[in-house]
Amino acid sequence: MLNVRNLTRSYGSFIAVDDVSFSIKKGEIIGLLGHNGAGKTTIMKIVSGYLEADGGEVSLDGISLGKNAKLLQQHLGYLPENLPVYPEMTVAEYLDYAADLKGLTANKKIAEIKRVIKATDLSAKLLAPIDTLSRGYKQRVGVAQAILGNPKLLILDEPTNGLDPEQTQHMRKLIKDIAQTATVILSTHIMQEVNALCDRVLILKSGQLVLDEKLDALQHSRHLVAETDCTD
Ligand code: ATP
Repeated sequence: MLNVRNLTRSYGSFIAVDDVSFSIKKGEIIGLLGHNGAGKTTIMKIVSGYLEADGGEVSLDGISLGKNAKLLQQHLGYLPENLPVYPEMTVAEYLDYAADLKGLTANKKIAEIKRVIKATDLSAKLLAPIDTLSRGYKQRVGVAQAILGNPKLLILDEPTNGLDPEQTQHMRKLIKDIAQTATVILSTHIMQEVNALCDRVLILKSGQLVLDEKLDALQHSRHLVAETDCTD
């Protein structure tokens, strides 16, 4: 479904993503692992259309994503590491704004906002300004905006980072639920999270893909997991 071919991206002379290729099948949950600075966020931003690659190609169901804003808007949901929200907006105002950005028509908008509020269990917080929410609730708002329009592919950058154990469990269950209907790529440092959620693991090291393996085959590559410093 998603095909990433020979992706490269540098910041000045520093190569952040170095000739990375992988494919993802429909319905998979993929864990993108690697230590700080390995290139995870850069790859996620490129696939989501927030950053241009220097080289390579990303395609969804055979169609190049590149600058295809319409395709990205329709089929891709993205939870960035730090959600760029207006802190004084209420949750309801923000989701309304996010639905407009997704290009949802007036007819669809209300039903979609109701659906994502239910899915993320946010109904008690609709009138709360976003900056009054805990990190866990802010992340739920982030997921709610990402799943507006029911995207085929959901990209989550460290979705449980900074969450307490209860919110972490809630987020993991939410991701499992969403994965019933969408393909998911999530980045994380936590091996336990990968074990709980993922079908397949990609490990990045200094911008290069050093492992692409199904979770049940991962015990043969323990050394790589340990080397990339992504265990608990
Ligand atoms: P983390 O787990 O810390 O989020 P990451 O694996 O997501 O790390 P990236 O954020 O993709 O890694 O960063 C890859 C490398 O590129 C890092 O060395 C980072 O410092 C560098 N980098 C990222 N963004 C920029 C930028 N805008 N300008 C210069 N260097 C950057």
